[in-house]
Amino acid sequence: MTMINVNGIVGPAHEATISVLDHGFLFGEGVYEVCRTYHGLPFLFDRHTRRLRESAARLALPVPFTDGEIRDRVDDTVDAAELGTTDSPSAYVRLLLTRGVGEISYDPSGCPNPTLVVIAKKYVPPGRDVYELGVRIAMVATVRNHPASLNPLIKSNNLLNNALAMQEALRQGAFEALMHNHRGELAECSQSNLFVVKAGSIYTPPLDAGLLAGITRAYLFEIANDLGMTAAEVPLRDEDLLGADEAFLTSSTREIVPVVLVNDHRVGTGHPGPVTRALLDGYRQRVEALTRNGRDNQTAFSV
Ligand code: PMP
Repeated sequence: MTMINVNGIVGPAHEATISVLDHGFLFGEGVYEVCRTYHGLPFLFDRHTRRLRESAARLALPVPFTDGEIRDRVDDTVDAAELGTTDSPSAYVRLLLTRGVGEISYDPSGCPNPTLVVIAKKYVPPGRDVYELGVRIAMVATVRNHPASLNPLIKSNNLLNNALAMQEALRQGAFEALMHNHRGELAECSQSNLFVVKAGSIYTPPLDAGLLAGITRAYLFEIANDLGMTAAEVPLRDEDLLGADEAFLTSSTREIVPVVLVNDHRVGTGHPGPVTRALLDGYRQRVEALTRNGRDNQTAFSV
């Protein structure tokens, strides 16, 4: 069952309520994280908490909770959803922090108490075909937010840019929406980061191309390193993707997804490639090693 924790009170989804005067609702002022549990443990949770704090700092949103308190809220909610044991199915966990309730004014001083919400529900994985056959993504007309307008480094609850991009992709029957930045370079997808493989090396756009510092994106560099592969951040243009040997997407909930078509152009052989497969296997092996037996999986950032 989906369980939701609103400011420390856990209950079923239909009982979870937020004031319409919460600035998260009024102005979209808030930040969030999504992670997945394996064997009952939220994966790389320390990194998610750190990114939540970094996002919040960019909107001068206080986080009046310790990492331990945030983790306790998550654990309480996952446990209430009966997804918290070593042999539980995986949980999808969404953590939201908003400005809280106050006067209808942009002055943050009127909202002293941020709202903290945790949503925990059973994780539904992408179909097997997604990993075995790969997916088609659409290059969409919606441009990723200009970093000087609304920096994509902020994992903001205000997801209109992402939602509009994904609406375009859905109209085209595509799995994901790939956006360009204001310079016409490839940036990222509506809910995942983009990588390409060329001549055995792995490339992804740099953060200053205007994109989210994906946790799986950073982790990918560590896995590539373990496997003796080279990975680098470089600006990418359409021709780099269309002429790539392989391409793939990364996200906490989808792990590593092979891309075989971009609009109607085939990428590489049109099948998931060996580098993508090796990275996905490496990712899953690391996840298993870090989470089985209920071991904790706090790790330091290395990228
Ligand atoms: N970019 C965007 C815009 C996203 O919403 C997400 C999903 N959180 C990602 C990239 C992937 O990030 P992560 O690996 O941290 O899940």
